[in-house]
Amino acid sequence: MTRRVVLIGHPVAHSLSGAMQQAAFDELGIDARYELQDRTPQQLADAIAELRGDEFLGANVTIPHKEKTVPLVDRLTEEAHATGAVNTITREGKRLIGHNTDVAGFRVALDRLVGRQKMPRTAVVLGAGGGGRAVVYGLISEGFQRVVVFNRHLHRAEALVRHFVRSAAHMELRAMPWHESIIEVELAKAKVLINATSIGLHGEERPFPAEILPPELLVLDLIYNPPKTLLLRDAEAAGDTAINGDVMLLHQGAAAFTLWTGKPAPLELMQAKLEEGRAGGIESKNGTTSGDDAASQEEGTPAGATTAE
Ligand code: NDP
Repeated sequence: MTRRVVLIGHPVAHSLSGAMQQAAFDELGIDARYELQDRTPQQLADAIAELRGDEFLGANVTIPHKEKTVPLVDRLTEEAHATGAVNTITREGKRLIGHNTDVAGFRVALDRLVGRQKMPRTAVVLGAGGGGRAVVYGLISEGFQRVVVFNRHLHRAEALVRHFVRSAAHMELRAMPWHESIIEVELAKAKVLINATSIGLHGEERPFPAEILPPELLVLDLIYNPPKTLLLRDAEAAGDTAINGDVMLLHQGAAAFTLWTGKPAPLELMQAKLEEGRAGGIESKNGTTSGDDAASQEEGTPAGATTAE
C-alpha cells in the first residue's frame, strides 16, 4: 500500500516541502506520497481525524494551524508541549503524536546565523504565531537572557509570554506593543532579530522603516520564498548579517522525515530539491508545473504569495 503524508495548511499551494519530501521518499525506496491539503480552520479537526487511517504515515501542519492542532492529537512530544504548537504528526496505531520540528530547524538556523561568534544573549522577535513560539523556545533553551516579542495583536504576544512563564523564569521574556519607536529602542539593545511574521511573504512589505535597523545585528527572516525579503535587503544595506528561512525549512523537514520513516534524511538531495523547486517552478495542485506567479494566480492567491511551513 502506498502510504500517505499530507501537508495541512491554508494556503498550501506553493509549498516547497512536497518537492523535498517526495524526492527523499523516492531516494530511499519508501512507497509514500506527499500531498498538499488546503484546509480552512473549520476543516482542520476533520483533516486531523482522518490521519488515524492506516494509509497515513503522518502529516505536516503549517500556517495558520500549528497552535490549533495541539488539542486535536493524543500526545505531544516535549517540544510540541513546550511551544504549544505542532508542525509534524506521526501515528502510533490509531493514536496521533504531535511534534514540533521547527525548534530543531530553528536551532540549526541560529547556529548558522551566529557562525563562529559567541552565542548572543539578547533578541527581538517579531511575531507570536506557531513559528514565533518555536523561535522563542529555541532562544530560551539556547540560554538567551533577554527576549522581547512584538506582535501586531499584542494579546497574542502576551499569551506567548504567559505560555513560557516557567521555562523563562531565569530570564527576561517580554511582550511589547508594535510601535516603531519602541521597536527602535529594543533593536538598539539587541544582538539578534528574528522575523517570525508573514510580513514580506506576500510581496514587498517591511515590518518597519529601514532606518531603524542598527548595524551589526544578526537577522534571521523565517520566510524562505521569496528568498530575500525587503527586511533582509534592508539589513544587508545597514551592515547586518542576514539569512533567510532556508536552513530552518530544510532541517525541520529532515527531522519530520526521520520521524515518519525512522531513517536519516538525505539532506543534500532535499536541499537540491528545495533550490530546484524555487528556481524552476513548483508542482501545482493539478499536477502541472508552473512558475510562482502563474501558480499563485491559479490558486486565487496574490502573485508572489507562498506557503509557510
Ligand atoms: P501564524 O499564522 O501562526 O502566525 C503569523 C504571524 O504573522 C503572527 O504573528 C501574525 O500577527 C503575523 N502577521 C501576519 N500578517 C501580518 C501583518 N500584515 N502585519 C503584522 N503581522 C502580521 O504563522 P506561522 O507562525 O506558522 O508562520 C509565520 C511566518 O514564519 C511565515 O511567514 C512562515 O513562512 C514562517 N515560517 C517559516 C519556517 C521555516 O521553516 N522557514 C517555519 C515556520 C514558519 P497577528 O497575531 O497579529 O495576526
